[in-house]
Amino acid sequence: MTTRLYYNDSLLARFDATVTEAGVLPDGRPFVVLDKTGFYPSSGGQPHDLGLLGDATVLDVLDRDEDAAVLHVLDRALGPGVDVSGEIDQARRLDHIQQHSGQHVLSAAFVHACAAPTVSFHLGPDVSTIDLTAVLEADVIARAENEANRIVQENRPVEVRYASAEEAAALPLRKEPKRGGTLRLVDIQNWDLSACGGTHVSRTGSIGGIAVTGWERYKGGTRVGFACGLRAVRHHRLLRDVVTAATRALSVQMSELPEALRRLQSDSREARQQMRVLTESLAKYEAAELASSAKEIGGHRVVVRVVDRDANGLKLLAQAAAELGPSVVLVSASRPALVVAARGAEGPSSVDPAVVVPNFSSAAPAFDAKALVASLIARFGGKGGGRAELAQAGGMDGDPAEIGATCAEILKGG
Ligand SMILES: [Zn+2]
Repeated sequence: MTTRLYYNDSLLARFDATVTEAGVLPDGRPFVVLDKTGFYPSSGGQPHDLGLLGDATVLDVLDRDEDAAVLHVLDRALGPGVDVSGEIDQARRLDHIQQHSGQHVLSAAFVHACAAPTVSFHLGPDVSTIDLTAVLEADVIARAENEANRIVQENRPVEVRYASAEEAAALPLRKEPKRGGTLRLVDIQNWDLSACGGTHVSRTGSIGGIAVTGWERYKGGTRVGFACGLRAVRHHRLLRDVVTAATRALSVQMSELPEALRRLQSDSREARQQMRVLTESLAKYEAAELASSAKEIGGHRVVVRVVDRDANGLKLLAQAAAELGPSVVLVSASRPALVVAARGAEGPSSVDPAVVVPNFSSAAPAFDAKALVASLIARFGGKGGGRAELAQAGGMDGDPAEIGATCAEILKGG
């Protein structure tokens, strides 16, 4: 068993101790056990301390449950029997103290505000969270946040005392303790009494302030994020910078930001709708232009053209042009290339009745889009398929112009 100096002095920065056991963890990292330590091991939602033991750097601190020993995982081995001085990373410890004490105050505030108990606590790297069993609305959360900050401002004393399980059973503890034996109680005067092994402030004013950073529905209850002290300031700084960038980009005041974003979304929806209408009407003109350029190839009246379109655009344009008479083969300008082939009636052009076109369809077998695409795949690779009336393929490895020329050759050759 290791004597835990942080139990009675949460601000202890240095201590001297003797190595009582030295070993190696299964992952190969060396560790030592000391007769007494100021290093806090990860437990109760609070992360472990960092610092130095002699020349060695403390990488992790673990609780060994069997004998209540504290394991200090180090970057180098230390021999047993050695006297060492320990130095704890104070900035990290102070931050953990603020977050953990803030958690006790806030959890109690939720009990006072809406009788919602906290079932778990996690002290994260940027924000911490508590999980509450109740579904909470914004007004209740604001009330608890206000109450918690009133307790911080009142700078109430926080005392650590010890009690047997029997004594504790008669006390108004916020949460049923999980373990028996002697309990360490953290008492925030007339506000919260909890069994806890963590490091805490001696007066609530040192928490500095408690800000709820957000909340979400979680396992039928609510997960509330919060930041205390300097972390709350850092969180505010981050929000300020993000909001400032957004208000500058949109040239609005902070309070106008949500409405400006809604307007932007609605404008963009309208613009997309207009673009769809324009694209459709443009496609009609393009289809007419394509159809009017049809040539006789291998007994078919057909258009073969490379156009800059995605798969959907190619298909729409090919179908629209084929409806005007000619069979149509469109190759995308991209590489790997896409191909869409569509069968037209191949009769006289309906675009310009004045243009006299011979009727080719009687001489040659019907234009077979599927067979044409299959021949192109055999030559250029890729994947695709379809019907004799409409077929398409993608992933063709070839120059689009060459694919178009090959297409014409296939139609000529039959
Ligand atoms: Zn605690």
